Amino acid sequence: SGARVRRAHNKRLPQYLERGVDVKFSDVAGLGKIRLELEEIVKFFTHGEMYRRRGVKIPGGILLCGPPGVGKTLLAKAVAGEAGVNFFSISASQFVEIYVGVGASRVRALYQEARENAPSVVFIDELDAVGRERGLIKGSGGQERDATLNQLLVSLDGFEGRGEVITIASTNRPDILDPALVRPGRFDRKIYIPKPGLIGRIEILKVHARKKPMAEDVDYMAIASMTDGMVGAELANIVEVAAINMMRDGRTEITTDDLLQAAQMEERGMLDRKERSLDTWKQVAINEAAMAVVAVNYPDLKNIEFVTIAPRAGRELGYVRMKMDPIKFKEGMLTRQSLLDHITVQLAPRAADELWFGEDQLSTIWAETADNARSAARTYVLGGLSELHHGLSNFWVADRLNDLDTEASQIVNMCYERAKEILQKNRKLMDAVVDELVQKKSLTKQEFFSLVELHGSIKPMPPSI
Ligand code: ADP
Repeated sequence: SGARVRRAHNKRLPQYLERGVDVKFSDVAGLGKIRLELEEIVKFFTHGEMYRRRGVKIPGGILLCGPPGVGKTLLAKAVAGEAGVNFFSISASQFVEIYVGVGASRVRALYQEARENAPSVVFIDELDAVGRERGLIKGSGGQERDATLNQLLVSLDGFEGRGEVITIASTNRPDILDPALVRPGRFDRKIYIPKPGLIGRIEILKVHARKKPMAEDVDYMAIASMTDGMVGAELANIVEVAAINMMRDGRTEITTDDLLQAAQMEERGMLDRKERSLDTWKQVAINEAAMAVVAVNYPDLKNIEFVTIAPRAGRELGYVRMKMDPIKFKEGMLTRQSLLDHITVQLAPRAADELWFGEDQLSTIWAETADNARSAARTYVLGGLSELHHGLSNFWVADRLNDLDTEASQIVNMCYERAKEILQKNRKLMDAVVDELVQKKSLTKQEFFSLVELHGSIKPMPPSI
């Protein structure tokens, strides 16, 4: 038995094996249909024989594509966890060495370990670091990388179709990968993992809340709605920071407020990395505050969920989230009055720009919302809501189009004056909201409405034609 002990000692310990990986699909939230594709990969391991017997080719490599922090690594671990196989991982940036041959020999060692301990998942993080199209990098660094890439191709081919070692790689740039990598039998399957939507964010928050002492009435929806554009890694961090808040105050339960504060901190952290001058922050704040302040005057629009100057998914500037009845809006069941209110709110940024910076200093920050106002005004006229023309007859008379535009522009002008009037009467409130936005970057519903209460808002007469 002494000999056996010695042999066990001599056996090289696998360097790239991650021990104790115990991730399951239930730890990864907000996947939707992607989950089915990943379950299939698990089956390549658990039902490999069945696939082979039926002549179904098992892919050698799977590419998980998506921005950082969406859970690509977590998913690769979950595949290994669900299949009950070993998990080997390396970051491709570790392949890229200045010494010739080091990268290639690491790849060889990684795959040798994975084979000796098969079945296994090999996970390569940031594949683009080594998988960029060959010939793009000049000089000896480029040669070294090519040698590494070639070795990777050889290693991938060694397992083709056998299903004992499956490589999963992550990248944010599938478009720049060397074509040789994505050829059949190599990384021939791509799975896109997008940033989570509203429901996805709720689910991710809940997954991370599972092991924490959450208050029973935590409003996950509120946190999810103010974290547009955030990924799983950031949401996980919010729950952690909220737990720290709770501990610091000596409480025993994490509340919605803890989470809201943590979300604001996360956002600020994100934003501090974003370069914007104080002037720019302020300008964006005026833009968003104006919409919120004008909207608060209107019953259908005033259900403001939060106000932010953080760049959000698909929006470069800020965002005022209003809980308009979305069905009513989509199906065109808005009343005449609420359509006018909507137009007025959309014009608020333009009005604020004029009031705060003057006609000479106008920017184009309001271009998008002004566009919304214009098209809503056209809808108004075309829909026969206007009384200047006679209802639906507008629809059929092509040569009236000019008239329609004239009329739409009258409506826009009227609503614009209204927006200006509201803003002028609410300067104090505007200043307070702008200040707090610049400081905190986003305001929750409560924060916004307590400013409204404090600095009052004078309700003007609704516009009428
Ligand atoms: P990526 O590999 O895409 O950069 P990671 O898998 O490293 O992202 O994510 C980092 C952490 O963020 C995970 O360990 C997990 O705590 C959290 N996370 C990310 N996405 C999700 C998700 N969809 N569900 C649950 N947690 C997630």
